[in-house]
Amino acid sequence: LVEMNGVNKHFGDLHVLKDIDLTVTRGEVVVVIGPSGSGKSTLCRTINRLEPIDSGEIRIDGVPLPAEGKELARLRAEVGMVFQSFNLFAHKSVLENVCLGPVKVKGIKPKEARERAMELLTRVGVADQADKLPAQLSGGQQQRVAIARALAMAPKVMLFDEPTSALDPEMINEVLDVMTALARDGMTMIVVTHEMGFARRAADRVVFMDEGRIVEEAVPEEFFGNPRTARAQDFLSKLL
Ligand code: ATP
Ligand code: MG
Repeated sequence: LVEMNGVNKHFGDLHVLKDIDLTVTRGEVVVVIGPSGSGKSTLCRTINRLEPIDSGEIRIDGVPLPAEGKELARLRAEVGMVFQSFNLFAHKSVLENVCLGPVKVKGIKPKEARERAMELLTRVGVADQADKLPAQLSGGQQQRVAIARALAMAPKVMLFDEPTSALDPEMINEVLDVMTALARDGMTMIVVTHEMGFARRAADRVVFMDEGRIVEEAVPEEFFGNPRTARAQDFLSKLL
């Protein structure tokens, strides 16, 4: 569903993605881990062309991601993204935050979009907050709204870039629980996280990045139980 072939990306002299090959199949949950600065966020951002790439190719559901234009906008809508900072519209209600994309980008009728938004808010457990402003919600609730907002566009794949890093500890699980349920429901997901419990529980595959390269890829039991590379061993030993 997502195919990256020979993707390279530089920021000036800095080579941040080096010959990345990554294929994520439908329904698969891939957790991306690695040290700070290894290129995890950049990897996510290239998948919906928030960052252009220098060489290589990215395909979403078989279609090469173009550099710009209508086709890019269409493909972007198929890739939902949730960031560390929730990026909700501060002056709009929770419900409006979830409805806005479907109405403006997809041309869905407001009434239909509201009904669908309420279903999604129910699914992530914040339907009772629909009329509040984001600032009136806890961090965990805001992040669940951000997930509902991404889902409202009916994406084929969801990207999560450290979705729980900005949250107080007691709120982390409520967000991870929503993500785990989403994974169980068959959503294709790429998740950058430091939550190794989530990786063990929900990942089909763990991808370990270091210095812009994918250094190791394995199922969680194998990766955590028996990491092959010294760099992965070193990384894991610092976590435990
Ligand atoms: P973290 O775990 O800290 O979030 P990361 O693995 O997500 O790290 P990236 O944010 O992808 O790492 O950054 C990879 C490298 O690219 C870093 O050296 C970073 O400083 C650099 N970088 C990221 N974004 C930019 C940018 N817009 N301009 C220049 N350099 C950048
Ligand atoms: Mg990052």
